[in-house]
Amino acid sequence: MRIILLGPPGAGKGTQSARIVERFGIPQLSTGDMLRAAVAAGTPVGLEAKSIMESGGLVTDSIVVGIVADRVEEEDARAGFILDGFPRTVDQAAALDRMLSDKGLALDTVVEFVVDEDALVGRIANRAAETAARGEPVRKDDTPEVFKTRLAAYRAQTAPLSAYYGSLGMLETIDGMKPVDDVTTDLMAILDSHAEAASA
Ligand code: AMP
Repeated sequence: MRIILLGPPGAGKGTQSARIVERFGIPQLSTGDMLRAAVAAGTPVGLEAKSIMESGGLVTDSIVVGIVADRVEEEDARAGFILDGFPRTVDQAAALDRMLSDKGLALDTVVEFVVDEDALVGRIANRAAETAARGEPVRKDDTPEVFKTRLAAYRAQTAPLSAYYGSLGMLETIDGMKPVDDVTTDLMAILDSHAEAASA
């Protein structure tokens, strides 16, 4: 199964991805995680992405499309994958369409987490506090100021993807403000119906 999770930062995509990984045994491909790994490793991609990520802007389409194209070729992604944080622009979505059709693959569904943006600032503050309490390094872009820039980037560049996938008849929406287990229930109901359709 090939799934895109769509929603602003802090909407719960990462939390729910972990549960999909467990249930369906497909990997979570998070461009944010891949870019943070590249920054930590000091690769050329990491060096280019570092300051953009720290300011809350979007890394260029060519960089992220390149890393996703490489990642989907890996063995563990053969049976499917969850895309988390990609695509983030209509151009990235079009590049993904081309990439998948070149490989003879197709997406099963796009699930959008609908959330109240005002509540997200609080969620991000909690995520930073919990990470710090575990003694782990806090993401540099999880500050209230940078978070506002990330939300603005989402609104301007990523939100149009709802209409893009809606017009292709691929979009499902869930209420991301429900308690986390209820979001999982709603999400799994959607994914189960696609898994059944795929195996029918
Ligand atoms: P995330 O972990 O998804 O919140 O991503 C963290 C940061 O990585 C974003 O604020 C962007 O700077 C960068 N990033 C992640 N995914 C993408 C993408 N698909 N396109 C452009 N930039 C991205």
